[in-house]
Amino acid sequence: APALSIRDLRKTYDNGVEALKGVSLDVAPGDFYALLGPNGAGKSTLIGVTSSLVNKTAGEVRIFGVDIVADRDAAMRLIGLVPQEINFNMFEKPFDICVNYAGFYGVPREAAKARAEQVLKDAQLWDKADKMSRTLSGGMKRRLMIARAMMTSPRLLILDEPTAGVDIEIRRGMWKTLKEINASGTTIILTTHYLEEAENLCRNLAIIDKGRIVEQGPMKALLAKL
Ligand code: ADP
Ligand code: ADP
Repeated sequence: APALSIRDLRKTYDNGVEALKGVSLDVAPGDFYALLGPNGAGKSTLIGVTSSLVNKTAGEVRIFGVDIVADRDAAMRLIGLVPQEINFNMFEKPFDICVNYAGFYGVPREAAKARAEQVLKDAQLWDKADKMSRTLSGGMKRRLMIARAMMTSPRLLILDEPTAGVDIEIRRGMWKTLKEINASGTTIILTTHYLEEAENLCRNLAIIDKGRIVEQGPMKALLAKL
């Protein structure tokens, strides 16, 4: 089954805004996939529905074949989400943030500790594991968001504008971490409004505008058209 399969997805918010007007896409297992589009296009809504934070109005969403409504808990266990805003406690240490997060998802404590070492090393944060998170640089905080999401060993990692508003040096550090996560077998989907980011990272992408997909396919084919 595809890592993510979306069929005719529609979302109308209570205020009448039609954020998604019939979106269909498939993301293959192992892919690195970008949802590219301007502000207000519907990218966050698409990610919100996929991660069960937003209720859909119509359509179907499956994660590795698992329906997100009929089998919500099983579907959610397959994904890791990196929200746009940094939302960990600045007065906790990266190691504890990771271990406690896994505990919340039912991972036994000893396994969580071993996993925390792994994800912090992967994110080049192991030397900061016991520092107060508040003292981390902007780039390190962003990478900690990614490391924490990896604690549950998700098969599909979803990131909402992970590099919005950060400078190019920090972005490069995040790209390296994400490329390594993808190379180790995790499917990644991210939203971005930077073409450069999609170009650098992704094999396939969809361009979304005003709630509809306007282009879809391999990055190389789309670049050839521009
Ligand atoms: P993007 O992530 O591409 O910037 P969004 O999914 O955030 O786009 O927004 C798509 C549209 O839905 C926009 O017009 C936005 O104003 C609207 N929208 C987003 N969230 C809500 C909400 N909670 N209630 C009402 N309208 C919303
Ligand atoms: P990148 O994300 O590109 O790897 P960082 O933003 O993590 O870059 O910062 C690069 C280096 O600068 C780090 O190795 C770190 O030691 C140091 N540094 C930057 N800001 C801080 C800070 N607020 N506290 C401690 N070290 C910092």
